[in-house]
Amino acid sequence: MIATFPERLALYAAVALANFPIVLALDWYSQHANIRKIYDLPLERKQIDREIKNSLVTTPIHSILLAAFVESGLLVPRGPESLLSIALTFIVTLVWTEIWHYASHRAMHWKPLHFIHREHHRSWVTGPWSSVSFSTLEKLIFSLGIIGFMALLSHAVTVSLPGIVLYYLVYFFTNALGHSNIEIRSSDYYETLFGRVFNTPTYHAMHHARYINNYGLLTPFLDRLFGTAWPDAERIQRRVAEGAPLRKLNERPC
Ligand SMILES: [Zn+2]
Ligand SMILES: [Zn+2]
Repeated sequence: MIATFPERLALYAAVALANFPIVLALDWYSQHANIRKIYDLPLERKQIDREIKNSLVTTPIHSILLAAFVESGLLVPRGPESLLSIALTFIVTLVWTEIWHYASHRAMHWKPLHFIHREHHRSWVTGPWSSVSFSTLEKLIFSLGIIGFMALLSHAVTVSLPGIVLYYLVYFFTNALGHSNIEIRSSDYYETLFGRVFNTPTYHAMHHARYINNYGLLTPFLDRLFGTAWPDAERIQRRVAEGAPLRKLNERPC
């Protein structure tokens, strides 16, 4: 194992503690900056209180699982640590999580499993705190899928612990942004190279407001592949980015 115990402890602490300041910063930004709202609908105080309460239980799960897997030897990070191994682990974690999230998210929209995901969908209009509001079981499944896969991989190839930690930090930010109910991208975003690969906050906001489709986390690729993307997702993003928010959850502007 490459990192010393205090170094590993610092990495676990980063995963345990980074989510709250990210959510707080985006919460402040979405309320104070002059930015484009996606759904111009009120967010009730009791929803935010419920989401904060959920986050106290679910946020430490990633860190606890990561520490348990590494310290028990199930996940074996190998050295020597290099920028290349960090970058490769980050990319593999990101690609795998996209697949795992899509598959498990779709499964949780299946009636017999929906009880796992129901808590997250109590937030029809979302805010940054919705990004940390899940049932404990849902967060366990999500993170076990990521860390379990990286643990298996670590017995065959080099897996970098800072690479996994870096992925989690990026995930905390993109997930909070995806729930922030603000559109930061321009109206021609989908015509850019970046826009062909990555989602916008409008994409996931539509999933919450309409309850189905747009299951992807960072990219719409799997939704397009399996026919589960809302066909008007790009049109809605363009409209919102031009400064015309949606005023009803079921709004379908032509
Ligand atoms: Zn869902
Ligand atoms: Zn969500």
